[in-house]
Amino acid sequence: MKVTDSEFVISAVSEKQYPNDDLPEFALAGRSNVGKSSLINTIVNRRKLARTSQQPGKTQTLNFYKVNNLLYLVDVPGYGYAKVSKKQREKFGEMIQDYLETRADLKGLVLLVDARHDPTKDDISMFEYAQYLDIPILVVATKMDKLKKMEASQIKQKIGKSLNLKRKNVSFLPFSSVAKLNVDKFWDWIEAHE
Ligand code: GDP
Repeated sequence: MKVTDSEFVISAVSEKQYPNDDLPEFALAGRSNVGKSSLINTIVNRRKLARTSQQPGKTQTLNFYKVNNLLYLVDVPGYGYAKVSKKQREKFGEMIQDYLETRADLKGLVLLVDARHDPTKDDISMFEYAQYLDIPILVVATKMDKLKKMEASQIKQKIGKSLNLKRKNVSFLPFSSVAKLNVDKFWDWIEAHE
């Protein structure tokens, strides 16, 4: 898919604020600093549609981005951020949970994991939760440009040790915002699940 139009629509804190034009939605989740804002900017070919920062955990709302007037990318708050209070974290959790469990427009979850590290406990929980809810999952390994060739060639096996990539409705994609690696393949997966 060629992106010709992308816009930020809303930072929603409650269901009332979610868009109601019934377009397919794809949630993007991952721990803070995994490269989610960078991925969003890269796939829509904009420098600053989603904010990127060195300071993790800033996004505390569900951010809806409309692409080509055809679908929404939904930036889900990064998990595993130490500086928000436990109460706040529980609140985000509830909002994400409600969204993932009840949103009819939700067609898939993109789970971002850092290619350099083993998936965290939070990554595994999110993966298993989405599996349980029967949501199609695309596991994206970010920052592939940081890996050596040998490591890069083994990334699927490495991530597959923690996340069962062989399960039904699970796909895997190595990605890099810096190298713009696999942008087309990202959209291929989205289009196949719209
Ligand atoms: P977010 O918190 O998940 O939205 O993460 P960001 O997109 O803000 O990225 C966190 C940090 O990782 C920033 O310093 C980015 O420049 C860096 N980063 C993101 N994507 C890549 C990538 O593909 N390659 C490299 N080398 N760095 C990246």
